[in-house]
Amino acid sequence: MQLKDPSLLQNKAYVNGQWTAAQNGATYPITNPFDGAVITEVADMKKEDVQQAIDAAEKAFDVWKNKTAGERSTILRKWFDLQMEHAEDLALILTTEQGKPLAEALGEIRYGASFVEWYAEEAKRVYGDVIPGHGVDKRIVVLKQPVGVVAAITPWNFPNAMITRKVAPALAAGCTVVIKPAEDTPLSALALAELAERAGFPEGVLNIVTSSNAAEVGETLTKSSVVRKLSFTGSTRVGKILMKQSADTVKKVSMELGGNAPFIVFDDADLDEAVEGAIASKYRNAGQTCVCANRIYAQAGIYDAFVEKLSEAVNKLNVGSGLEKGNEIGPLINTAALEKVEGLVKDAIEKGAKVTTGGERHQLGGTFFQPTVLSQVSEEMKVTHEEIFGPVAPVYKFETDEEVIAAANNTEYGLASYFYGNNIRRIWKVAEGLEYGMVGINTGMISTAVAPFGGVKESGVGREGSFYGLEEFVEVKYLCFGGI
Ligand code: ADP
Repeated sequence: MQLKDPSLLQNKAYVNGQWTAAQNGATYPITNPFDGAVITEVADMKKEDVQQAIDAAEKAFDVWKNKTAGERSTILRKWFDLQMEHAEDLALILTTEQGKPLAEALGEIRYGASFVEWYAEEAKRVYGDVIPGHGVDKRIVVLKQPVGVVAAITPWNFPNAMITRKVAPALAAGCTVVIKPAEDTPLSALALAELAERAGFPEGVLNIVTSSNAAEVGETLTKSSVVRKLSFTGSTRVGKILMKQSADTVKKVSMELGGNAPFIVFDDADLDEAVEGAIASKYRNAGQTCVCANRIYAQAGIYDAFVEKLSEAVNKLNVGSGLEKGNEIGPLINTAALEKVEGLVKDAIEKGAKVTTGGERHQLGGTFFQPTVLSQVSEEMKVTHEEIFGPVAPVYKFETDEEVIAAANNTEYGLASYFYGNNIRRIWKVAEGLEYGMVGINTGMISTAVAPFGGVKESGVGREGSFYGLEEFVEVKYLCFGGI
């Protein structure tokens, strides 16, 4: 890896302001999903190492929460500036460990940094309230205080941005953090720690524990009564385990879990715009995001035309190494992901779906899968109910608004949803009818630091981004002054 600043590639964990090996010296390999080559070995931390990080964060909490909001803001801002300055190196590290095309990786770095910038600003505006008292001698004041030590567990599909989205508001509020990045992609996290060190965070404010044993780290973090808040992004399955584990110490939790996003195209939609939106929403990160369109519903009047236009556009997507310019679809993260996507496509074909483009593993081999469009898809196919997490778009036909709203809501998930249409009455009705935390209307791209990201139902609890995101990391304290 040809980095301009080679010290951004770290392989030890970051605990209490020190690059730290596991106490037993264990390491595990990090590989490039493009060709399976080992990039480096990182520290494989165990219970006792995680405990050390919790202790460091506890000690640092006293220091960090007692800084002024302005001081915290200045350090966060410095961290943001450093991320922008080193964006190209950060993107290269990201693509090498994760596989997404370099242009997309750079997009993620800027997106990730935007949370740090936003919360550097918000840090100064954690206002409380003064409420008119309930008696003539009473005065009521509401304070907002940081919740304490925060544990953040993040996934591999956005190795940078899922960290900054949690950590920036936590730090802005005055919390300290222990981060466990996904085992496949810890290098982006460690590069962020290197920049945090340069930005001047006091020791112990930000800690990163790398480990191949997620369950052990998760258990140690959730068992600890020092950790007062858990912020998790990942699968619904693991989210439920962590919520249960957090119950024993009654932690606050934020959960960004799986999705099964519907993408609806009505007869009166602009089809070219809808195709563009579908490509952006479905094929970004090779389909490996929790807000990717999972089920595309096209109304009967435009069904054939939409499938044709979408297939044509998908056919043109360039597949290959993320490091080669012009490629739009990289490899899937690992073999298990490839097998899952392949199995879903096979199941759909067996049950009557037609492949209009793609449909198989890519000739490049490895974990590449062809960008695929399936038509004549029906409810009983597995793609309807499972998160595909790959570059496969099943397209369903529907007749009425009521029918498509019911179909779209017929899932335990409720994260992102999208629709294209131009009738203002319908737009309001559908937007209100969709049981989702987020609705994209005539757009396939909804993620931004300034808006609340999050889901309902089994897609999660809590919101990230915007001023709502900061509320997740503060406790409200009510002061009642009497005898005045
Ligand atoms: P994905 O399907 O996106 O990989 P996971 O939920 O498996 O989602 O992983 C998201 C994050 O959760 C990763 O950091 C992973 O290491 C971590 N993780 C997986 N299993 C557990 C567990 N039992 N306890 C705590 N963290 C876990």
